[in-house]
Amino acid sequence: MRPAALLLCIPWLFASGTTTTADEHPALRPAEQTAVADVERREAQIKETNRQLWELAEIGLQEQKSSRLLIDQLREAGFRVDAGVAKMPTAFVASYGSGKPIIGILAEYDALPGMSQQVAPERVAVREGAAGHACGHSGLGSGALGAALAVRAALEKHHLPGTIRLYGTPAEETVIGKVYMTLDGQFDDLDVCLHWHPGSRNQAWSGSSKALVSAKFTFAGTPSHASVSPESGRSALDAVELMNIGANFMREHIKEDARLHYVITDGGGQPNVVPPTATVWYFVRADAHQDVERNFRWLQDIAKGAALMTRTKLRVAVDTDCHEIVVNAPLSELITANLERIGAPRFDQREVEFARRLQSPLTAQFGTEFPLAIDEAIHREPVGTQPSKGSTDVGDISWRVPTGGLRTTCLVAQSPGHSWQNVASIGSSIGEKGIVYAAKVLAVTAVDLFEDPQLLAAAREDWQQRMDGRKYFSFIPDGQAPPRQIR
Ligand SMILES: [Zn+2]
Repeated sequence: MRPAALLLCIPWLFASGTTTTADEHPALRPAEQTAVADVERREAQIKETNRQLWELAEIGLQEQKSSRLLIDQLREAGFRVDAGVAKMPTAFVASYGSGKPIIGILAEYDALPGMSQQVAPERVAVREGAAGHACGHSGLGSGALGAALAVRAALEKHHLPGTIRLYGTPAEETVIGKVYMTLDGQFDDLDVCLHWHPGSRNQAWSGSSKALVSAKFTFAGTPSHASVSPESGRSALDAVELMNIGANFMREHIKEDARLHYVITDGGGQPNVVPPTATVWYFVRADAHQDVERNFRWLQDIAKGAALMTRTKLRVAVDTDCHEIVVNAPLSELITANLERIGAPRFDQREVEFARRLQSPLTAQFGTEFPLAIDEAIHREPVGTQPSKGSTDVGDISWRVPTGGLRTTCLVAQSPGHSWQNVASIGSSIGEKGIVYAAKVLAVTAVDLFEDPQLLAAAREDWQQRMDGRKYFSFIPDGQAPPRQIR
């Protein structure tokens, strides 16, 4: 904790306006009203959880305190918690209730390295070089917690049959957690899985995402004096460079939606030693996992070619392999309806001014124009529209069970992903309002699914149709444990 730094975070003190209350929504049925009222009763708890996760800012698979913070509150509310699932110490599954249906809600809580940032309108770290919640996962985790606790209240009060589960899914930023939890079968008995992400708009999840393989190509050569005896050396770095040249020519012949990006994580020691080892780390992405499969096999051939050319040996280690999201029309429609029934939060003048100040450096540096400071609207987009250019390990779950999601406005309009502006926003009252709103929408959606078997059936049918012809294949070797450290 860094209380001294927090005192500087003036926007924490912003007047905390609320979302519309349950009383204003007579259309909500009694169990839905119970869920909304529970979120409202717990607003302070949800905000405090966001604040603590935000301060902890632990990176993937090191989220011990963050996962503990969520687990403690779940246990206190009577959830049974299975911690350390799928061989990841910070992954957990918390359950309340019994039998079917089983509805899952996903929580994430990992931060991004080097993104420490105060809740301030200029770039200033809480602690130089430390991690920060530039993807808003402090909010994601606290909102999901609020939703699960609210569903528990509704199940109990209205004697609804079934089980609510909150999944603690670590290391989203390296697309590890849910992939390995999926391979471990953690989601197999769910009827529906629900997820959310802090965003710049209020909207049901309508588009897919990119599938992604993350792999490291390590070449082993022979060290030697680079000037005195180069003929006795074989450079592993040469292999990395030739592989990258091959990959860059391969780009010419892959589909437009495919992506290749790499960093050289080991390029040798110093110029007068022929590098005995070198490693290049690749992300291979595309809208369809099938295309990732094709491109990754091609890339492996290129690496083999580079090893042949340089008389070096190649080792390929796949860290993770994540699939694109299979969208679900009935779930998306249900979530959109609930976004509208509950009503989006409004932002006050101080929040709008704060947002403008966060946007202004982007205008100065990139010329970006911002017609809006904060987007309060609820957007409707047909399911299956433009897929996201990013990837998420939610995708793997959606290949196992019907999965629906949403974003709420927690960040300033058009805010770039993984930016310091996002760290500031999610830690401010702008983020808090979006988090509370998301908790309500998730909770009410889950209650609807518990109350109406027809909704579950429709979600399942839509999922079965979309899964027709898809076969889950993973490059992760059978039985491989999740990598503890990826960088
Ligand atoms: Zn994220």
